[in-house]
Amino acid sequence: KKVIFSGVKPTGEPTLGNYLGALKNWVELQDDYDCYYCIVDLHAITVPQEPKDLRRRSLEILAQYIATGIEPEKNTLFFQSHVSAHAELSWVLNCISYMGQLGRMTQYKEKSQKGEENLNAGLFTYPVLMAADILLYGADLVPVGEDQKQHLELARDLAIRFNNRYSETFKIPDVYMSKFGNRIMGLQDPLSKMSKSGDDENDYILIIEDADVTARKIKRAVTDSIGIVKYSDEQPGIKNLITIYSKFSGESIADIENKYENQGYGKFKGDLAEIVVEGLRPIRKKYSDLMNNKDYLQTIYTEGARKAEYVANKTLRKVYKKVGFIPR
Ligand code: ATP
Ligand code: MG
Repeated sequence: KKVIFSGVKPTGEPTLGNYLGALKNWVELQDDYDCYYCIVDLHAITVPQEPKDLRRRSLEILAQYIATGIEPEKNTLFFQSHVSAHAELSWVLNCISYMGQLGRMTQYKEKSQKGEENLNAGLFTYPVLMAADILLYGADLVPVGEDQKQHLELARDLAIRFNNRYSETFKIPDVYMSKFGNRIMGLQDPLSKMSKSGDDENDYILIIEDADVTARKIKRAVTDSIGIVKYSDEQPGIKNLITIYSKFSGESIADIENKYENQGYGKFKGDLAEIVVEGLRPIRKKYSDLMNNKDYLQTIYTEGARKAEYVANKTLRKVYKKVGFIPR
């Protein structure tokens, strides 16, 4: 079986963007691939985290993975910090990474240009850690949202560079994205992507929140004064809502446009709210059951770490040998 690796970082509560751009695809891929789905907590501390919140959220995200339909029996679910090979390979890869290339990563540029004081080195090298995550498992495919494409390119570059410098070691991973809806935009600012670390809670829908909160956020979503339900770049707000509608209902964009041809945004948003709430209802139900069974979650991540560690350590040993470290 071909191998898949992907992850979500526990920097905030997962959003509809994470669901549609990542988790939903993961569920669809689980039968055909050997999947490693990680909660990438090492990545989360590239921005300051309150320790007890990080701990709580990490477990909540594991529960959300399972609640969306990722089956623990079929996949390897684990916390990144439980497998030390991630940090170790990351160091080796750091030593073949060029500062210039890392400086061109758009996520880093955006964050650093926001004028954040005391930018930390982790934020700068975070794509290298991500490359280590992927390469440790020999992933063939990495299902991510559009925002991660550039980081995946870097992972490929580093794998090729290492293979050329030493000898064939890493598999070169490919990005996997759904044809459409791989970049869900904010509800208040439809020109920026929806993010779980955003400040404005009306800008995102959380996978886990009350149904009426979800409905209210959709009804308050920013639109425009054109008044036509049309999938067009001139109407970024409506375009984004149509995308979400289509992802949840399975209806084509043309069908949705036709259906609301002579109707206002009110009816469209009302229907969308219902579709999203109904779509998330089973996930939310399952999630609350899981959170009442922490022992079960613990068995999942303990077993996951064990399986992941076995594979990751094998790769790391190979790498250490190739770079010239004395085997222990
Ligand atoms: P942060 O703001 O902390 O970076 P995030 O919402 O971007 O949070 P990540 O943990 O960085 O979440 O990303 C997890 C996965 O979700 C990645 O595969 C990413 O590409 C995908 N993703 C994140 N936001 C969106 C979005 N708005 N649309 C589609 N996919 C997304
Ligand atoms: Mg992100």
